[in-house]
Amino acid sequence: MTHFSTRAVHAGAAPDPVTGSRAQPIHQTSSFVFKDADHAAKLFALQEFGDIYTRIGNPTVSALENRIADLEGGTAALGVASGHAAQMLAFHILCEPGTKIIAAKHLYGGSINQLGHAFKKFGWEVEFVDMQDIDALNAAMDPTVRAVFSESLANPSGVVMDMEAIAAVAHKHGVPYIVDNTMATPYLCRPFEHGADIIVESLTKFIGGHGNSIGGVLVDGGKFDWKAHPEKFPTMATPQEYYNGLTFAEGFGALPLGPDGAEVDIAFAIAARAFSLRDLGPALSPFNAFMIMTGCETLPLRMDKHCSNALEVAKWLEGHDAVSWVRYAGLESDPHYKLAQKYLPNGSGAVFTFGVKGGFETGKALVSNVNLLSHLANIGDTRSLIIHPASTTHSQLSDAQKTAAGAAPDTVRVSIGIEDARDIIADLDQALGQS
Ligand SMILES: *Cc1c(COP(=O)(O)O)cnc(C)c1O
Repeated sequence: MTHFSTRAVHAGAAPDPVTGSRAQPIHQTSSFVFKDADHAAKLFALQEFGDIYTRIGNPTVSALENRIADLEGGTAALGVASGHAAQMLAFHILCEPGTKIIAAKHLYGGSINQLGHAFKKFGWEVEFVDMQDIDALNAAMDPTVRAVFSESLANPSGVVMDMEAIAAVAHKHGVPYIVDNTMATPYLCRPFEHGADIIVESLTKFIGGHGNSIGGVLVDGGKFDWKAHPEKFPTMATPQEYYNGLTFAEGFGALPLGPDGAEVDIAFAIAARAFSLRDLGPALSPFNAFMIMTGCETLPLRMDKHCSNALEVAKWLEGHDAVSWVRYAGLESDPHYKLAQKYLPNGSGAVFTFGVKGGFETGKALVSNVNLLSHLANIGDTRSLIIHPASTTHSQLSDAQKTAAGAAPDTVRVSIGIEDARDIIADLDQALGQS
Protein backbone atom coordinates (compact mmCIF):
# COMPACT_ATOMS: atom_id res chain seq x y z
CA MET A 1 0.00 0.00 0.00
CA THR A 2 2.45 2.61 -1.07
CA HIS A 3 0.50 4.88 -3.37
CA PHE A 4 -1.73 7.68 -2.18
CA SER A 5 -4.94 6.69 -4.03
CA THR A 6 -4.74 3.18 -2.60
CA ARG A 7 -4.14 4.47 0.91
CA ALA A 8 -7.03 6.94 0.60
CA VAL A 9 -9.33 3.92 0.15
CA HIS A 10 -7.73 1.37 2.48
CA ALA A 11 -5.57 2.96 5.18
CA GLY A 12 -6.93 2.60 8.70
CA ALA A 13 -9.73 0.21 7.75
CA ALA A 14 -10.13 -3.53 7.33
CA PRO A 15 -13.12 -5.88 7.14
CA ASP A 16 -14.76 -6.03 10.57
CA PRO A 17 -13.32 -9.10 12.35
CA VAL A 18 -16.62 -9.93 14.06
CA THR A 19 -19.18 -9.44 11.28
CA GLY A 20 -17.15 -9.31 8.06
CA SER A 21 -18.65 -5.91 7.29
CA ARG A 22 -16.55 -4.45 4.45
CA ALA A 23 -17.50 -0.83 5.03
CA GLN A 24 -16.31 0.75 8.27
CA PRO A 25 -19.02 0.05 10.89
CA ILE A 26 -20.46 3.05 12.72
CA HIS A 27 -19.93 2.39 16.42
CA GLN A 28 -22.80 4.56 17.59
CA THR A 29 -22.24 4.03 21.29
CA SER A 30 -21.30 6.37 24.09
CA SER A 31 -19.29 3.82 26.08
CA PHE A 32 -17.46 0.47 26.02
CA VAL A 33 -17.72 -2.45 28.45
CA PHE A 34 -14.50 -3.29 30.33
CA LYS A 35 -13.26 -6.89 30.33
CA ASP A 36 -12.72 -6.72 34.09
CA ALA A 37 -11.71 -4.29 36.82
CA ASP A 38 -7.97 -4.54 36.04
CA HIS A 39 -8.62 -3.80 32.37
CA ALA A 40 -10.61 -0.73 33.36
CA ALA A 41 -7.87 0.48 35.69
CA LYS A 42 -5.19 0.06 33.01
CA LEU A 43 -7.21 1.96 30.41
CA PHE A 44 -7.72 4.87 32.77
CA ALA A 45 -4.02 4.96 33.71
CA LEU A 46 -3.00 4.90 29.99
CA GLN A 47 -1.13 1.63 30.62
CA GLU A 48 -3.15 -0.01 27.84
CA PHE A 49 -4.84 1.56 24.80
CA GLY A 50 -8.55 0.94 24.33
CA ASP A 51 -11.90 2.61 24.18
CA ILE A 52 -13.58 3.88 27.33
CA TYR A 53 -16.05 6.57 26.36
CA THR A 54 -16.68 8.21 22.96
CA ARG A 55 -15.65 11.67 24.16
CA ILE A 56 -12.10 10.27 24.46
CA GLY A 57 -12.08 7.72 21.63
CA ASN A 58 -14.27 5.52 19.43
CA PRO A 59 -13.39 2.76 16.92
CA THR A 60 -15.04 4.51 13.95
CA VAL A 61 -13.24 7.73 14.80
CA SER A 62 -9.98 5.76 15.25
CA ALA A 63 -10.28 4.27 11.77
CA LEU A 64 -10.55 7.79 10.35
CA GLU A 65 -7.64 8.97 12.52
CA ASN A 66 -5.42 6.17 11.25
CA ARG A 67 -6.33 6.94 7.65
CA ILE A 68 -5.54 10.65 7.96
CA ALA A 69 -2.31 10.00 9.89
CA ASP A 70 -1.26 7.71 7.05
CA LEU A 71 -2.18 10.17 4.28
CA GLU A 72 -0.37 13.03 5.99
CA GLY A 73 2.65 10.89 6.84
CA GLY A 74 2.31 11.47 10.60
CA THR A 75 2.66 9.03 13.49
CA ALA A 76 -0.84 9.39 14.98
CA ALA A 77 -3.92 11.58 14.69
CA LEU A 78 -6.78 12.80 16.82
CA GLY A 79 -10.20 13.25 15.24
CA VAL A 80 -12.25 16.04 16.79
CA ALA A 81 -15.51 17.92 16.32
CA SER A 82 -14.25 20.60 13.90
CA GLY A 83 -11.18 22.17 12.41
CA HIS A 84 -11.39 24.86 15.06
CA ALA A 85 -11.47 22.24 17.80
CA ALA A 86 -8.26 20.74 16.39
CA GLN A 87 -6.57 24.14 16.58
CA MET A 88 -7.80 24.76 20.13
CA LEU A 89 -6.53 21.37 21.35
CA ALA A 90 -3.14 21.72 19.64
CA PHE A 91 -2.52 25.10 21.27
CA HIS A 92 -3.96 23.91 24.59
CA ILE A 93 -1.10 21.42 24.91
CA LEU A 94 1.52 24.03 24.05
CA CYS A 95 0.41 27.27 25.67
CA GLU A 96 0.10 28.56 29.22
CA PRO A 97 -1.23 31.98 30.28
CA GLY A 98 1.31 34.62 29.27
CA THR A 99 2.84 32.62 26.43
CA LYS A 100 2.52 33.54 22.79
CA ILE A 101 1.60 32.10 19.40
CA ILE A 102 3.07 33.65 16.26
CA ALA A 103 0.42 33.27 13.56
CA ALA A 104 0.39 34.16 9.89
CA LYS A 105 -1.53 37.27 8.93
CA HIS A 106 -2.94 35.38 5.96
CA LEU A 107 -5.37 33.02 7.67
CA TYR A 108 -8.94 31.80 7.39
CA GLY A 109 -11.17 34.56 8.91
CA GLY A 110 -12.54 32.17 11.55
CA SER A 111 -8.99 31.40 12.68
CA ILE A 112 -8.17 35.11 12.99
CA ASN A 113 -11.23 35.39 15.27
CA GLN A 114 -10.32 32.26 17.26
CA LEU A 115 -6.70 33.24 17.82
CA GLY A 116 -7.23 36.98 18.09
CA HIS A 117 -10.29 36.97 20.39
CA ALA A 118 -11.26 33.62 21.93
CA PHE A 119 -7.70 32.61 22.88
CA LYS A 120 -7.25 35.88 24.79
CA LYS A 121 -9.57 34.53 27.48
CA PHE A 122 -7.10 31.68 28.06
CA GLY A 123 -4.32 34.23 28.50
CA TRP A 124 -2.60 33.14 25.28
CA GLU A 125 -1.15 36.05 23.36
CA VAL A 126 -1.17 36.00 19.58
CA GLU A 127 0.92 38.09 17.23
CA PHE A 128 -0.03 38.11 13.55
CA VAL A 129 2.92 38.37 11.18
CA ASP A 130 3.23 38.48 7.40
CA MET A 131 5.08 35.19 6.99
CA GLN A 132 6.06 35.98 3.45
CA ASP A 133 8.58 38.21 5.23
CA ILE A 134 10.96 35.84 7.04
CA ASP A 135 12.81 38.77 8.65
CA ALA A 136 9.53 39.93 10.21
CA LEU A 137 8.93 36.40 11.50
CA ASN A 138 12.42 36.27 13.01
CA ALA A 139 11.89 39.65 14.64
CA ALA A 140 8.63 38.49 16.26
CA MET A 141 10.21 35.49 17.96
CA ASP A 142 10.90 35.86 21.70
CA PRO A 143 11.26 33.51 24.70
CA THR A 144 7.50 33.51 25.40
CA VAL A 145 6.66 32.03 21.97
CA ARG A 146 5.34 28.44 22.09
CA ALA A 147 4.30 27.83 18.48
CA VAL A 148 4.42 29.22 14.96
CA PHE A 149 1.21 28.73 12.99
CA SER A 150 0.29 29.15 9.33
CA GLU A 151 -1.81 27.57 6.64
CA SER A 152 0.02 25.75 3.84
CA LEU A 153 -2.14 27.43 1.21
CA ALA A 154 -3.97 30.34 2.80
CA ASN A 155 -7.75 30.77 2.72
CA PRO A 156 -8.86 32.97 1.02
CA SER A 157 -5.76 34.94 -0.01
CA GLY A 158 -4.12 32.08 -1.94
CA VAL A 159 -0.72 32.81 -0.40
CA VAL A 160 1.49 29.73 -0.59
CA MET A 161 3.65 29.69 2.51
CA ASP A 162 7.36 28.99 2.22
CA MET A 163 7.04 26.27 4.84
CA GLU A 164 10.71 25.26 4.88
CA ALA A 165 11.82 28.81 5.65
CA ILE A 166 9.14 29.25 8.34
CA ALA A 167 9.97 25.88 9.94
CA ALA A 168 13.64 26.84 10.11
CA VAL A 169 12.80 29.96 12.15
CA ALA A 170 10.49 28.04 14.50
CA HIS A 171 13.07 25.31 15.06
CA LYS A 172 15.90 27.81 15.63
CA HIS A 173 13.81 29.11 18.54
CA GLY A 174 12.94 25.65 19.86
CA VAL A 175 9.22 25.73 19.10
CA PRO A 176 7.03 23.59 16.81
CA TYR A 177 5.63 24.74 13.49
CA ILE A 178 1.91 23.97 13.21
CA VAL A 179 0.41 23.93 9.73
CA ASP A 180 -3.26 24.09 8.81
CA ASN A 181 -3.44 21.93 5.66
CA THR A 182 -7.20 22.33 5.08
CA MET A 183 -7.09 24.08 1.72
CA ALA A 184 -4.45 21.84 0.16
CA THR A 185 -5.26 18.45 1.76
CA PRO A 186 -2.54 15.78 1.95
CA TYR A 187 -3.16 14.96 -1.72
CA LEU A 188 -1.82 18.33 -2.84
CA CYS A 189 0.61 19.19 -0.06
CA ARG A 190 2.58 17.24 2.56
CA PRO A 191 3.65 19.69 5.26
CA PHE A 192 5.60 17.08 7.28
CA GLU A 193 7.99 16.76 4.32
CA HIS A 194 8.68 20.50 4.58
CA GLY A 195 9.36 20.93 8.29
CA ALA A 196 5.91 21.02 9.92
CA ASP A 197 5.72 19.36 13.35
CA ILE A 198 1.95 19.21 13.79
CA ILE A 199 -0.80 19.41 11.19
CA VAL A 200 -4.32 20.57 11.95
CA GLU A 201 -7.06 20.53 9.41
CA SER A 202 -10.75 20.86 8.92
CA LEU A 203 -12.24 17.59 7.67
CA THR A 204 -15.39 19.55 6.85
CA LYS A 205 -13.85 20.79 3.63
CA PHE A 206 -12.16 18.74 0.88
CA ILE A 207 -11.39 15.61 2.89
CA GLY A 208 -15.04 14.91 3.74
CA GLY A 209 -15.64 16.70 0.49
CA HIS A 210 -19.43 16.68 0.18
CA GLY A 211 -20.47 19.55 2.42
CA ASN A 212 -22.38 17.29 4.81
CA SER A 213 -20.33 16.81 8.02
CA ILE A 214 -18.27 19.00 10.34
CA GLY A 215 -15.04 17.49 11.64
CA GLY A 216 -11.40 18.20 12.30
CA VAL A 217 -8.13 16.44 12.91
CA LEU A 218 -4.79 17.04 14.54
CA VAL A 219 -1.84 14.99 13.25
CA ASP A 220 1.37 14.35 15.19
CA GLY A 221 4.50 14.45 13.01
CA GLY A 222 6.37 12.55 15.73
CA LYS A 223 9.63 14.48 15.25
CA PHE A 224 9.59 17.43 17.62
CA ASP A 225 11.92 16.99 20.61
CA TRP A 226 9.74 18.05 23.54
CA LYS A 227 12.26 16.84 26.10
CA ALA A 228 14.81 19.38 24.83
CA HIS A 229 12.57 22.17 26.18
CA PRO A 230 10.76 21.04 29.35
CA GLU A 231 10.57 24.65 30.58
CA LYS A 232 8.64 25.62 27.44
CA PHE A 233 6.39 22.56 27.20
CA PRO A 234 5.59 21.34 30.72
CA THR A 235 2.50 19.39 29.61
CA MET A 236 4.66 17.32 27.25
CA ALA A 237 7.95 17.08 29.06
CA THR A 238 7.35 17.19 32.82
CA PRO A 239 5.62 14.66 35.11
CA GLN A 240 1.85 15.07 35.16
CA GLU A 241 0.39 14.52 38.61
CA TYR A 242 -3.08 13.67 37.37
CA TYR A 243 -1.60 10.66 35.51
CA ASN A 244 0.50 9.36 38.43
CA GLY A 245 3.54 11.39 37.46
CA LEU A 246 3.59 10.25 33.82
CA THR A 247 5.67 12.37 31.42
CA PHE A 248 3.96 12.15 28.02
CA ALA A 249 7.14 12.70 25.97
CA GLU A 250 8.80 9.82 27.80
CA GLY A 251 5.88 7.41 28.09
CA PHE A 252 4.80 7.77 24.45
CA GLY A 253 7.93 9.07 22.75
CA ALA A 254 9.20 5.71 21.48
CA LEU A 255 6.50 3.06 21.09
CA PRO A 256 7.09 0.02 18.83
CA LEU A 257 4.11 0.81 16.57
CA GLY A 258 5.91 1.46 13.27
CA PRO A 259 6.56 -0.96 10.41
CA ASP A 260 8.44 -4.02 11.75
CA GLY A 261 8.14 -2.71 15.29
CA ALA A 262 10.04 0.52 14.61
CA GLU A 263 9.75 3.05 17.43
CA VAL A 264 7.52 6.03 16.81
CA ASP A 265 6.76 9.13 18.83
CA ILE A 266 3.03 9.67 19.36
CA ALA A 267 3.34 11.68 22.56
CA PHE A 268 1.68 14.83 21.27
CA ALA A 269 -1.34 12.96 19.90
CA ILE A 270 -1.72 11.07 23.20
CA ALA A 271 -1.45 14.23 25.29
CA ALA A 272 -3.98 15.99 23.07
CA ARG A 273 -6.40 13.09 23.62
CA ALA A 274 -5.74 12.24 27.28
CA PHE A 275 -5.54 15.81 28.47
CA SER A 276 -7.11 18.31 26.08
CA LEU A 277 -9.84 16.30 24.35
CA ARG A 278 -10.75 14.44 27.53
CA ASP A 279 -11.08 17.62 29.57
CA LEU A 280 -12.28 20.19 27.01
CA GLY A 281 -14.62 17.77 25.25
CA PRO A 282 -15.00 18.55 21.49
CA ALA A 283 -15.44 14.93 20.38
CA LEU A 284 -16.17 13.87 16.79
CA SER A 285 -19.40 11.93 16.32
CA PRO A 286 -18.88 8.39 14.96
CA PHE A 287 -21.48 9.07 12.27
CA ASN A 288 -19.54 12.12 11.04
CA ALA A 289 -16.32 10.08 11.10
CA PHE A 290 -18.02 7.49 8.86
CA MET A 291 -19.24 10.17 6.43
CA ILE A 292 -15.82 11.81 6.28
CA MET A 293 -14.08 8.47 5.78
CA THR A 294 -16.36 7.65 2.88
CA GLY A 295 -15.65 11.04 1.35
CA CYS A 296 -11.92 10.60 1.85
CA GLU A 297 -11.89 7.54 -0.43
CA THR A 298 -12.46 9.73 -3.50
CA LEU A 299 -10.16 12.58 -2.37
CA PRO A 300 -7.58 12.09 -5.17
CA LEU A 301 -10.27 11.86 -7.89
CA ARG A 302 -12.10 14.90 -6.60
CA MET A 303 -8.99 17.01 -6.07
CA ASP A 304 -7.81 16.38 -9.64
CA LYS A 305 -11.17 17.57 -10.97
CA HIS A 306 -11.41 20.47 -8.47
CA CYS A 307 -7.96 21.68 -9.54
CA SER A 308 -8.44 21.36 -13.31
CA ASN A 309 -11.83 23.09 -13.10
CA ALA A 310 -10.40 25.87 -10.90
CA LEU A 311 -7.57 26.50 -13.33
CA GLU A 312 -9.99 26.67 -16.25
CA VAL A 313 -12.34 29.07 -14.46
CA ALA A 314 -9.43 31.23 -13.20
CA LYS A 315 -8.00 31.55 -16.73
CA TRP A 316 -11.41 32.50 -18.07
CA LEU A 317 -11.94 35.12 -15.34
CA GLU A 318 -8.52 36.65 -16.09
CA GLY A 319 -9.83 37.60 -19.53
CA HIS A 320 -13.21 38.95 -18.34
CA ASP A 321 -13.91 42.70 -18.68
CA ALA A 322 -15.71 43.01 -15.32
CA VAL A 323 -12.84 41.39 -13.41
CA SER A 324 -9.86 43.50 -12.31
CA TRP A 325 -7.61 40.76 -10.92
CA VAL A 326 -7.49 37.00 -10.25
CA ARG A 327 -5.38 35.46 -7.51
CA TYR A 328 -4.87 31.72 -8.07
CA ALA A 329 -1.50 30.13 -7.46
CA GLY A 330 -2.00 27.83 -10.44
CA LEU A 331 -1.86 30.78 -12.87
CA GLU A 332 1.58 31.57 -14.26
CA SER A 333 0.80 35.26 -13.70
CA ASP A 334 0.33 34.67 -9.95
CA PRO A 335 3.05 35.83 -7.52
CA HIS A 336 2.82 32.47 -5.72
CA TYR A 337 3.16 30.34 -8.85
CA LYS A 338 6.78 29.36 -8.12
CA LEU A 339 6.11 28.36 -4.50
CA ALA A 340 3.01 26.47 -5.65
CA GLN A 341 5.14 24.44 -8.08
CA LYS A 342 7.35 23.46 -5.14
CA TYR A 343 4.80 22.85 -2.38
CA LEU A 344 1.66 21.93 -4.37
CA PRO A 345 2.98 19.87 -7.27
CA ASN A 346 -0.35 18.09 -7.87
CA GLY A 347 -2.41 21.27 -8.27
CA SER A 348 -3.14 24.56 -6.55
CA GLY A 349 -6.47 23.70 -5.00
CA ALA A 350 -9.97 24.85 -5.82
CA VAL A 351 -10.40 28.00 -3.77
CA PHE A 352 -9.35 31.37 -5.12
CA THR A 353 -10.30 35.02 -5.16
CA PHE A 354 -10.86 37.62 -7.80
CA GLY A 355 -11.68 41.32 -7.79
CA VAL A 356 -14.80 42.84 -9.34
CA LYS A 357 -14.37 46.28 -10.90
CA GLY A 358 -17.36 47.82 -9.08
CA GLY A 359 -16.03 47.02 -5.56
CA PHE A 360 -18.10 46.16 -2.44
CA GLU A 361 -21.63 46.58 -3.90
CA THR A 362 -20.77 44.74 -7.14
CA GLY A 363 -19.33 41.87 -5.09
CA LYS A 364 -22.56 41.64 -3.10
CA ALA A 365 -24.63 41.78 -6.32
CA LEU A 366 -22.58 39.02 -7.97
CA VAL A 367 -23.20 36.52 -5.17
CA SER A 368 -26.94 37.32 -5.41
CA ASN A 369 -27.07 36.74 -9.18
CA VAL A 370 -25.50 33.27 -9.46
CA ASN A 371 -27.75 30.23 -10.02
CA LEU A 372 -25.54 27.13 -10.23
CA LEU A 373 -23.00 28.36 -7.69
CA SER A 374 -24.25 28.32 -4.09
CA HIS A 375 -23.86 31.47 -2.04
CA LEU A 376 -22.66 30.16 1.31
CA ALA A 377 -19.80 30.15 3.81
CA ASN A 378 -17.94 26.94 3.11
CA ILE A 379 -15.28 25.54 0.82
CA GLY A 380 -14.43 22.08 -0.45
CA ASP A 381 -17.88 20.86 -1.41
CA THR A 382 -18.48 18.87 -4.63
CA ARG A 383 -20.66 21.85 -5.59
CA SER A 384 -19.24 25.21 -6.67
CA LEU A 385 -19.54 27.85 -3.96
CA ILE A 386 -19.21 31.62 -3.86
CA ILE A 387 -19.00 34.25 -1.14
CA HIS A 388 -18.19 37.94 -0.73
CA PRO A 389 -15.85 37.79 2.31
CA ALA A 390 -15.88 41.52 3.16
CA SER A 391 -19.62 41.43 3.90
CA THR A 392 -19.66 37.97 5.55
CA THR A 393 -16.77 35.78 6.83
CA HIS A 394 -14.40 38.70 7.30
CA SER A 395 -16.98 41.37 8.23
CA GLN A 396 -15.84 41.47 11.88
CA LEU A 397 -12.31 42.47 10.89
CA SER A 398 -11.14 46.05 10.39
CA ASP A 399 -10.63 47.21 6.79
CA ALA A 400 -6.87 46.92 7.23
CA GLN A 401 -7.20 43.36 8.61
CA LYS A 402 -9.59 42.46 5.76
CA THR A 403 -7.14 43.60 3.14
CA ALA A 404 -4.24 41.93 4.97
CA ALA A 405 -6.18 38.65 5.08
CA GLY A 406 -6.94 38.86 1.34
CA ALA A 407 -10.57 39.92 1.79
CA ALA A 408 -10.64 43.49 0.48
CA PRO A 409 -14.06 45.04 -0.37
CA ASP A 410 -13.88 44.10 -4.10
CA THR A 411 -12.86 40.51 -3.38
CA VAL A 412 -15.03 37.52 -4.26
CA ARG A 413 -14.04 34.01 -3.17
CA VAL A 414 -15.02 30.89 -5.07
CA SER A 415 -14.57 27.22 -4.24
CA ILE A 416 -14.81 25.48 -7.59
CA GLY A 417 -16.69 22.18 -7.51
CA ILE A 418 -16.52 19.06 -9.64
CA GLU A 419 -19.32 19.98 -12.07
CA ASP A 420 -18.58 20.55 -15.77
CA ALA A 421 -16.38 23.67 -15.97
CA ARG A 422 -18.44 24.96 -18.91
CA ASP A 423 -21.53 25.21 -16.72
CA ILE A 424 -19.63 26.99 -13.92
CA ILE A 425 -18.25 29.50 -16.42
CA ALA A 426 -21.68 30.06 -18.02
CA ASP A 427 -23.21 30.81 -14.61
CA LEU A 428 -20.45 33.25 -13.60
CA ASP A 429 -20.73 34.90 -17.03
CA GLN A 430 -24.46 35.60 -16.71
CA ALA A 431 -24.06 36.77 -13.10
CA LEU A 432 -21.16 39.12 -13.93
CA GLY A 433 -23.27 40.49 -16.80
CA GLN A 434 -26.03 41.51 -14.39
CA SER A 435 -23.91 42.78 -11.48
C1 LIG B 1 -12.96 25.99 7.64
C2 LIG B 1 -11.56 26.16 8.03
C3 LIG B 1 -11.14 25.97 9.34
C4 LIG B 1 -12.10 25.62 10.46
O1 LIG B 1 -12.69 24.39 10.26
P1 LIG B 1 -14.13 24.01 10.87
O2 LIG B 1 -14.28 22.57 10.54
O3 LIG B 1 -15.12 24.90 10.19
O4 LIG B 1 -14.05 24.29 12.33
C5 LIG B 1 -9.81 26.13 9.63
N1 LIG B 1 -8.93 26.46 8.69
C6 LIG B 1 -9.29 26.66 7.40
C7 LIG B 1 -8.26 27.01 6.40
C8 LIG B 1 -10.62 26.52 7.03
O5 LIG B 1 -10.96 26.73 5.75
